[in-house]
Amino acid sequence: MTQQAGKSGGAGGAGGVVDPHALDVFEFARSGRQAAGGLRISQLPRLSNEVPADAREREASFTWQAEGSTQPELQDDGSEAPQPYLRLAVHGSAWLECQRCLAPYEQAFDVDATYRLVASEEEAEAYPLDDDELDVIVGSRQFDLVDLIEEELLLSLPLVPKHDVCPQVHESLSSGAGGELAGEAGGQSSDEGEGGKDGEGGKPNPFAALEALKRDGGTGGNTH
Ligand SMILES: [Zn+2]
Repeated sequence: MTQQAGKSGGAGGAGGVVDPHALDVFEFARSGRQAAGGLRISQLPRLSNEVPADAREREASFTWQAEGSTQPELQDDGSEAPQPYLRLAVHGSAWLECQRCLAPYEQAFDVDATYRLVASEEEAEAYPLDDDELDVIVGSRQFDLVDLIEEELLLSLPLVPKHDVCPQVHESLSSGAGGELAGEAGGQSSDEGEGGKDGEGGKPNPFAALEALKRDGGTGGNTH
């Protein structure tokens, strides 16, 4: 793990320190500047909501790079003028809760987006979108780059967070017909014993299987 540049990274290229919460993004673009930094989950409250509470303390963070530029565009009067662009890349990971086995897992994020900066909502709506690769955003002299970073991360959250392959799911769970989750147990047991005895009927109880797995994995072999 690289631990250099510990906290808020204002270190860009040449030039001054960039405050990623209040960036003059038009100036940033016009002068072709670059900036980079790191963010922890705790600095991204909306994304943090997606992280299970017991996983928030785990090591996970993001690095970002931003680069301003201009590209000539044809104006209404027929002349060409340089227009501001922002490119943003974000890499890192966060702990999410697997919707299949309910254990936390590390989800990787890779964002690489380019934005055409405009001055107002009206201008954004009027902008001809002929390019799927390009987003139009309203810039400002106090632009919150961290907010944009968080927005992009939220947009790239998986629809259903889950392991590629769950580490501890027993066959009886993962190969259930229709992949139904075990949350809604179909048959109510007729006797209401508080001991929580189940396993009447022929089907193996998936919870029992999971418990068995937990027991095996948990304490290293006091049963054998
Ligand atoms: Zn899983």
